[in-house]
Parts: sequence; C-alpha cells; structure tokens
Amino acid sequence: MKVSRAVAASLMALGAAIALAQSTQPQDEEFARLVKEWTTRPEFTSPLVDHLPKAAGVPSPKDVLGYYVGAPKKLTYTADIYRYYRALAAASKRVRVLPAGRTDEGREQIVVAIGDEDTIRDLDTYKGYLARLADPRGLDDDGAHRVIAQAKPIYFLMGGLHSSETGPPEMLMELAYRLAVDSSPLFEQIRRNVIVMIIATAEPDGRDRYVDWYYRYKTTQEAENDGIPGPPYWGKYIYHDNNRDINFSQVTMRNWLKFYLEWHPPIMHDLHESQPLLYTFSGQAPQNPTLDPILYAELPWFSNFEMSKMLGYGMPGVWDHAYVDMWSPGYLGFMSSNHNGMLRMYETFGNGGANTIKRNLDRGGEGGAAAPDAAGRGGGMTAREWYRPVPAPHQLLWSMRNNTNYMETGVLSALELTSNFSKTVLENFYKKSRNSIESGRNEAPFGYVLPAGQRDMTRVAFIVNILRLQGIEVGRATAAVKLKDGTFPAGSLVVKRDQPYGRLAKILLETQKYPDASLRTYDDAAWTMGLMSHADVREIGDKAILDVPVTPVNTLQIAGEVKGDGPVTAILENGANSLVTLVYRLKDVKFEAIEQPVTVGDADLPSGSLLAPSSARLKSEIEKLGLRAVALAAQPDVARHAVALPRLAVFSNWSGTQDVGWVRYALDHFEVNYDLIYKERIRQGGLKASYDVILIPSQGGRGGAKSLVFDIEPKGKPIAYDKTPQFKSLGIYGESPDITGGMGLPGVLELDKFVQQGGVLVTLGAASYFPPEFGLTRTVDAARPSSQFYAPGPIVEAEILRPSHPIFYGYTDKTIPIRYAGGPLLRVPQDDRRLVLMQYPGTEKSVLSGLFKGVAEIRGHPAIVDVPTGQGRVLLFATNPAYRWQNLGEFGMLANTILHWSSLPKPEAAAPAHQATGAGEQ
Ligand SMILES: [Zn+2]
Repeated sequence: MKVSRAVAASLMALGAAIALAQSTQPQDEEFARLVKEWTTRPEFTSPLVDHLPKAAGVPSPKDVLGYYVGAPKKLTYTADIYRYYRALAAASKRVRVLPAGRTDEGREQIVVAIGDEDTIRDLDTYKGYLARLADPRGLDDDGAHRVIAQAKPIYFLMGGLHSSETGPPEMLMELAYRLAVDSSPLFEQIRRNVIVMIIATAEPDGRDRYVDWYYRYKTTQEAENDGIPGPPYWGKYIYHDNNRDINFSQVTMRNWLKFYLEWHPPIMHDLHESQPLLYTFSGQAPQNPTLDPILYAELPWFSNFEMSKMLGYGMPGVWDHAYVDMWSPGYLGFMSSNHNGMLRMYETFGNGGANTIKRNLDRGGEGGAAAPDAAGRGGGMTAREWYRPVPAPHQLLWSMRNNTNYMETGVLSALELTSNFSKTVLENFYKKSRNSIESGRNEAPFGYVLPAGQRDMTRVAFIVNILRLQGIEVGRATAAVKLKDGTFPAGSLVVKRDQPYGRLAKILLETQKYPDASLRTYDDAAWTMGLMSHADVREIGDKAILDVPVTPVNTLQIAGEVKGDGPVTAILENGANSLVTLVYRLKDVKFEAIEQPVTVGDADLPSGSLLAPSSARLKSEIEKLGLRAVALAAQPDVARHAVALPRLAVFSNWSGTQDVGWVRYALDHFEVNYDLIYKERIRQGGLKASYDVILIPSQGGRGGAKSLVFDIEPKGKPIAYDKTPQFKSLGIYGESPDITGGMGLPGVLELDKFVQQGGVLVTLGAASYFPPEFGLTRTVDAARPSSQFYAPGPIVEAEILRPSHPIFYGYTDKTIPIRYAGGPLLRVPQDDRRLVLMQYPGTEKSVLSGLFKGVAEIRGHPAIVDVPTGQGRVLLFATNPAYRWQNLGEFGMLANTILHWSSLPKPEAAAPAHQATGAGEQ
C-alpha cells in the first residue's frame, strides 16, 4: 500500500512537471488559484485549462472584463464580449474580427478568426482554397491534392445559440486568448494547421435579454429548482427553435448561413448545455442515408477521441450516444453537414446562469432524469453504459467554471485531433463535395422540376429562393423539357443533382422515408418542401435532366399581372398567400369576395377572388405581390360579400411565446396587422369592444388547457418583465408587472363573453384543447392519443368536408397535405358533424412523408371545426397553419379566416355528403 501510494505521488509530481515543462511562459497565478477554488472537484478539470499563460501586451479576458471566465455570478453582455475580442485582435496578429451582419434588434454579429500570423494575414487565400474544395468541379484528384497541400481547415465554433445556455460565449473568450498566446507545442500545432473561427454569440439579442434577466432575478438562486422561469423572450420571435429554422426565416440565422457559405468551414461545432457532464454528438441512428457515408465515420472518430482524452484526464460523465440523431437536417449547425462539412455538437451541464448550485442527477428535472425519457434520451447519467464508461456522480456541486473546464477541454481535444489530421479533414471535405456531384450523376433521382404555369407561382418562388439561400443551383429551362417523367413547359425551374449541394436538394425536396419505425427521433420526421408548400415538385428519374439547357436563377421573383381593361379588377384567388398582403396594403380600398366560381368572358374566377375598383395603385401592388388579375367591364353577377379587416388580437402566454412567435413571424411577413396581447388585456375585459378576432396560437402542449389558462405558477413574489434603466433588453414585445398566474378563470370568462357577444375565437394546435376543456364549445371534446401513438411531425392527408366554406378559398383539391401538429383528438357528436370542416382519413396511405405510428387513432377526427356559439363562433384548428415558417400551403386557411371572419356561413343543416371516412362515433 505504502509503496504504491508513494509511486502514485511521484507520478503525480511527474505529471505536474510535464505540464509545466510544456509551457515556459509566465503563468497567471491568480487564475490558477481562483480556478482551483471555483472547480468543485479536482476531477472536474484538466491540465489543459487549469492554468493560463501571460503574454506581454495581449489582454486576457480578465484584463478587459475585470473577471476571469467562469467566475461565479458573472455573465457577459455581447457588447463586452465584442469589446474583448476587438482588444484581442488589436493586440495580436493571430486574431481577426470578421463582421457577419446584424440581428433583428440591430446588434452586430461577429466571427473571430484565429491562426498563426501568416495564416491570418493571408486569410483570403485560405478562403479561396476551401471554396475550391467545396466546389471541385473542373478539379481532378491531382489538382485537388495540390490545393489540399496548401489549404487549412476552418474549425468553426458556435456558442450562445440558446440563450439560457450561458456558458459557451464565456468559455470561447478564454479559448480565443489561449489560442492566440499559448506557446506550448499543442497550441503551436493548432495555430499552424487549423484556422479556428468563433461565433462569439449566435443569438446576440437573446444573449443580452437573458443576461439582463439573470442579473435581475437569478444571481440569488441557490437551489436547482428555484421556480424562477426564464425570460419570456430570447430573440424577436423564437427560443430554441432558432435551432429548427430549416428555412432560415430568422435574420440572425440567415446571416450565419451566408457567412458559412462564404467561408466553407469543413467542421462546425455547436456548443449547447443541457446534459451532465459532457455529451459529444456521434451521429447516431436514424441517419439520413443521403448524406455522405464518410460523415458517419468522422462523427464517432471525433467524439471517441474526445472521450479518450477526457477519460485520460480523469474527467467523469463524458458520453457520446443515446441522445441526438442524424435524421432532421433542420438544426442550425447542420448547415455544415448539409454542405459536405461535418456538424459537431456538445451538451455540457449548465446551471442557467453563473451560480454554483447543488445538482441531484438522480432526481428528475433539467438534465437530471434518472432514467432515459420515452425517446430514450438523456437520463441514466449516473449509470454506466457502453457509451458512458465513467458516469457522472449522483449528487454534485456544479459551477460555471466546471462547465467551462469541460467544454474547453473537449474543444481543445477536438482541435488537437484536427491539427494532427488536418489533411485528412480536408481530403474528406473534398471527397464529400466530389461525391455529392457524382451521386447526382450516378444515382436517381437525377433532379427535380418545379413546372412553370402552376396556379400559384409565389409558393414555387418560396421553395426556389430557399434552395438558393442554401447555395443550391436552380436553373430556368430555356425551352420545353421532355423527359421520361413528363413534359414540362419552358420556364420550368430545374434542380440538377450533379452539383456540390445536390444531396441537400434531394434531402429537402424528397419524401422522407423513415428507416426504422422502432427508432425515435429528436425532432421532426418530415419536411418535404413541395408537400409543405402545396407546390408541384417532380422527382426526376430520367438522367437526361442533367443535359437540359437552363439559365441560372439567382432569386425568383414572380411578377403579377392584370389582364385586360375595365373599371373592375378581379384578383384571382389562386392560393397565393400574398392576397392577404394586398388587402392590408390597400386598407382604404373596398374589396369584395365572390362566394362562387364564375366565368366572365374567357376568365375563370375561382371562389374567394376579390373585386375592387381598378386603379394604378391596385395594379402596381398586384404586380409586386405576384398575383394574377383580370380587369372587367362590370361586376360579375355572383354572390359576394364585403371584405372587412378584423380588429385582430394574438394572445400569448408569458411562459411559451415561441409557437406564438412563429405565427407572429408569418403574420408580420404577410403584413397582417394585429395586437399582441397577454393575460393582462384578457383579464381587463371588454374584449368585444376592442377586437373582432382573437387568435390563440398553439400553446400549452399535450398537458392540455390548464397550462394555457394558469401559465407560470406564482411563488408569492411577482416577476416583472419590463424595461428599467439597468435592464434595457427587457419589456420588449410586451411587458408585465408580473408574468405569473396566467389569465386564470376570470380570463376564461372574458373570452367566453367575447364569443357570446359575437367575437371569433380561433385556436391553433395544442391551444385547441382550451375551448373544449373549459366549456366554450359545449359539445366538442378533446382527447389525447394513446401511449403507443408517435407522430413526430409527419405530413398527412386531410380531407376537406365543406369545400365552399370561405376558409378553403384558394384550395382546389379534396384532400391536402397537412403537417401533423400533435393537437388534440377533437370529437363532436354525430348531430354536430356538420361543424367539421376538415378531417383526417387516418389511413396508412394518408401518411405522405415521415413517421406516423398509430395513424389509425386519428381516423375520422376533425382537423378543423367551426362552432357557432352565442353571437360568435369558435374555430378550432387541430392543425397548426403557421408552423415554423414551413407549411406555407396551410397558411391560406388562417389568412382566409382573417379576411372573411365577418362572412363565415351558418353551419349546413345536413351533414355533408362525403363525411363517411371512419366518422363512426367521433
Ligand atoms: Zn441548446
């Protein structure tokens, strides 16, 4: 015993000697002392991060901020983060700050580049090499190897995408400093062989709002479940879904994509916090089979290397399986994997701030579930598994510095691997890019055609412009296209697969065939753009598409037109979402909607077409909005009603503003005016005097309506969300002296009065539990599916039962694709079936894309119900017609509700003829 203890002691001394010998630089002794103090157990750190070199003239984070990274109760605002990086760049020729645009709220977005002095000086040269490898057309293997010999990979780090995950933006400052100044061999090698780029904070608006919130409410937090919620907003519209913005709707996220496509980093590494103690993504099943097989070897190569290094340092709780899979391409960092790079991802253990807190991993709660959840993720953190050879301890005191130590050690290990194998990384990047082009030449489908002449080309433009944003080449056919798959008119949009991002085009446009129904997935199982947009997108099996002559499309603009001459303009209802924009842009114009289709001369006017006095202004807006119209000599003889824009309110809870945010985004995009209201306005009453339509976007989740009504649990002390001189980022998008308590029963009564007095209440998705559960719709019930049911956002068919109802203006098919929203299983008694406007067939055949287990459970259930109540009505959508800026094909139903709220028909007396499908007792 004695001998071995002595041996151990001398080995430890030797280890310390080696660590010191690696660095001949003067060391910051205060750093070492404080970091040791803040690190709650000796095994929660590593020799890579327990010391900090000093470099004359180059500021450390403390020199600029006044505190060390990982200091208790210190979080840094973006302005100070940027101030640090700019000071570092000013002092070191190894560092450069690159602009990357501005956020919704006008904050800067910056990327920090670090490498050796020569590399940073010639950064544009290295950018050119990577661009060459990213698009290797015209480059043979020898040529590629000559480029690779000179090139260096960019390792692109991203922190702060999720605002409550506060550690990464702090850690990255310390990492940047080390990378700039540390003269030990490892750091010399990283600087020589790799260009490190850092997104200083990926969501700057949310960062500042969260830091405000932390300083206002959370610095006194001592227990892990303190009952203080997060701030009501991060970014302008959404929270976590900034990592689900597959169509890059959000300005900030779009800017990162533009930056990525300018620099082509072969590796992107997204730093999150939610799991103890460090989870490193290994790309588990289900995997998207269209992505390059090399990627699926690279991911565990990196994660296993990190695990081996960190286990070698004696750090417990590192694991790399049973969490996130490789199915959805919609996560922000997937911009890398989607473009032949490699997405890497961590979850470390955060406290939602910088307090040191006792955490219990055996209890439920954030990151602490003792057993994996239903999706097989998380949980079991204290159990040994093959992918977690040394689990985390059951209870632990956890600090921001521990979190920093874990992240930074992991990232430095990844940079060690990258610097050892920088040429392999580049070679793989080149091969993945080349393989993408070749797979488009050798494997069907060989491309996609979006035929010209579709009823509504604005939704075709929506798809084409997102493909273009993603760097995918789209061409316009110069003549009619004759293929085995069909003949398409000149002007059709053509996506050929033999291009660098041809694989991504396939992933976005194809029907998702989920590989193994026994596997759960972390997010959506389907996203097929044509189905989501209700646009015609044809998959092409004929290789001849690769030779179709096209002219390249930069941005697709659909020019609208007014045919003919006459005092009355009829704007065709072709399903274009911009029809609602037209009415909002010309509020002073009297529009009327025709209630039946009619033919005037050689013009067919579908029902819902708008009539208005002809004018130059009207014509000009029609042209700008891509609408089609005909000018008529006189009003057609057909039933019609006046279009009266409603006084519209959108209700949001204080706890769950995100699904509301997506609806707000869509309404803002289409220029629909509304008031965003909260419980305060509802409880105030007199709603009918202020509003005609109140829209409650999906809120409350499967838990039902109780959480919608009662929202954040009051804990005796009010929690204000308002702007103060100290906290300027709070109180935006609404304010409240106390965000807890919800509308409560008094609020329910006010909403009931609103409907009784003639208001139109519209509920979407999970919010449609509310009217049934609180009795606003007396005969409609809301049930939950069984525990076997699993529908992670598949696309299914829905059947329109009352095609003449105004909410279906612009829809011509009897069945339409719907993104299944997980709303309630609505039930109406047989006598009230006439209230059902749309229902789910619920057959296996009706699942159009993605995974749906238990589809029979929705058979015959209503997708939309229109319930007249008192003087008003409640319109329940079990669907969500404004989901994450994806299902643009469904948005028309919401737009029609808004345009035609005052002319919705009485329910039909008899049940509609084709209600049959499995209606049964529903
Ligand atoms: Zn996250």
